[in-house]
Amino acid sequence: MSFSILGLDAKILQAVTEAGYTEPTPIQSAAIPPIIAGNDLIGIAQTGTGKTAAFTLPILTKLAALPPGQRRGTKVLVLAPTRELVVQIEENIRAYAKHLPLTVATVFGGVGEHPQIRALRSGTDVVVACPGRLLDLMGQRAADFLQLKFLVLDEADRMLDMGFLPSIRRIVQALPKVRQTLMFSATLSKEIESLTHEFQRAPKIVQIGRRANPAETVTQFVYEVPKHLKPALLLHLLNDPKMEMVLVFSRMKHAADRVARQLEQKGIRCATLHSNRSQNQRLKALKDFKSGAVRVLVATDIAARGIDVDGISHVINYDFPMHVEDYIHRIGRTGRANAIGDAISFVTNEDHGELRALERFIGRGIVRKKAEGFNYTAAAPAYNPAEEDSRLSRGHNQNRPQRPGRPQPSGQSRPPQRGGQSSQGRSYQPSWRR
Ligand code: AMP
Repeated sequence: MSFSILGLDAKILQAVTEAGYTEPTPIQSAAIPPIIAGNDLIGIAQTGTGKTAAFTLPILTKLAALPPGQRRGTKVLVLAPTRELVVQIEENIRAYAKHLPLTVATVFGGVGEHPQIRALRSGTDVVVACPGRLLDLMGQRAADFLQLKFLVLDEADRMLDMGFLPSIRRIVQALPKVRQTLMFSATLSKEIESLTHEFQRAPKIVQIGRRANPAETVTQFVYEVPKHLKPALLLHLLNDPKMEMVLVFSRMKHAADRVARQLEQKGIRCATLHSNRSQNQRLKALKDFKSGAVRVLVATDIAARGIDVDGISHVINYDFPMHVEDYIHRIGRTGRANAIGDAISFVTNEDHGELRALERFIGRGIVRKKAEGFNYTAAAPAYNPAEEDSRLSRGHNQNRPQRPGRPQPSGQSRPPQRGGQSSQGRSYQPSWRR
């Protein structure tokens, strides 16, 4: 199928060709015609399927068709869960709208408000925003959505998981009732269905078969390792030149900083991505990782949500994830678009409960490996965990999550509890358990 039969504006087709796209992805072929026809839509599709273009291209086509007099004021609002995703969506919109006289702005926390207030007040055509900051700025009467024609909720399931529903409700209440509402989610849960009843009118549903499950396509290994040897094992593995572009996941922000420091001390260029870093630092970290200026990016789960970086050769779970869905999400950062990728998980005695839960979920065991040439008995600890723990107990542990399924004192661990508390302390049901 070609883009030319989907009814898109000629200038947008030109931008799509310049982006190097030769044919629409399945979500694009299925979603673009009903959106152009004016329908509300629910798109069930994951990141990486081309869903951003699936909603942006038809919206831009409809904006391009508006009479010139109707062009002032914000007409499109896209809500997304994380700053990284907001920036990624904005970059995509700018690329697809490059031949149109449209303005685009982003709104998210962690940076100064004034440029965002200015952009909102000037009636920027397309606003891409995280719900929390947008609501703050709406409270300051910075936003004018009287002309709004399109609302997009991207990664709606993730926004619900992150507790944004009350903010989204308040934002939507302030929008014109007559509008087109598009909602994208990786899963169609009961919560998402009730959201569509609340915000949409007779939506068309477009469901794209799940992308190949990374648990089936990515080569996965487990390295069993005592906790104090994790830094030395990471350094040992990074001696392999095949580890060209490595995404390392830690569970907590301070651990990400510590791992990065240790690598830098050994001359390995790396950057960190977590929510304590400023927006500029996070964007620079991603840019340096994408360009190859740094070889290793150390990230926490939330900060890495939705990031789209091609060519990651290895994902290393330095800390084993608490939830199976985090594992699937993490390893899906490699092997994108059928590229080859390896996912390595460090597993300590404390992690066996989670590892068993994961293996049950994916329906098979993960190969245990010993790192060749690594001396498991003689390697010197690169840090003293007791020291770290005492530092944490002196007041640095506010972000330490409550782990469901912590091993029992006997050493027997139990699988994660259903409906356990998330690290944010809210009741949280990962989608794989629903
Ligand atoms: P998304 O699911 O929106 O995050 O898109 C994932 C990636 O696919 C992005 O890097 C897009 O630039 C790319 N992409 C989107 N549509 C197409 C297409 N029709 N052909 C090739 N690549 C595409």
